[in-house]
Amino acid sequence: KLGNATAKAELGRATWKYFHTVMARFPEKPTEDQQDALRSYIHLFARLYPCGECAEHFQQHLKKYPPQVSSRQAAAGWACFIHNEVNVMLEKPEFDCTNLGAFYDCGCAEDEGANKH
Ligand code: FAD
Repeated sequence: KLGNATAKAELGRATWKYFHTVMARFPEKPTEDQQDALRSYIHLFARLYPCGECAEHFQQHLKKYPPQVSSRQAAAGWACFIHNEVNVMLEKPEFDCTNLGAFYDCGCAEDEGANKH
């Protein structure tokens, strides 16, 4: 049981890191197509998340708080907010979303524009 909890937490940490990094790299001024892509991605991510109980909870959160995809700032702020919803549910401390800044810098600044097909 402890092994399960540890694996679930590890998966969660790795996933959140990736999830917030996606938002931090989303275009500042996304096209309609890029906004659609992020919205679809988030819904599929929630459906396919490998921890079934987590996926179930997260889909409920999404229904209540639909993804914000109008800009990088909106997406990053929304992701921070929704992660805080999970934090509250799990009785973890809330993260200060004004401190996001360069927290999710992927070290790929030289690719700026590479994801703006
Ligand atoms: P995590 O919550 O994993 O956070 C990792 C790091 O991210 C933190 O140390 C902090 O530096 C930073 N961080 C924290 N909050 C924020 C924020 N709001 N915005 C940006 N950065 C932040 N576990 C369950 O037991 N039950 C569930 O139902 C469940 N649902 C989940 C749903 C999803 C979509 C995901 C990705 C994970 C879920 N988890 C669930 C796992 C859980 O959220 C944690 O990842 C896990 O418990 C490990 O927690 P942690 O304290 O190490 O920090």
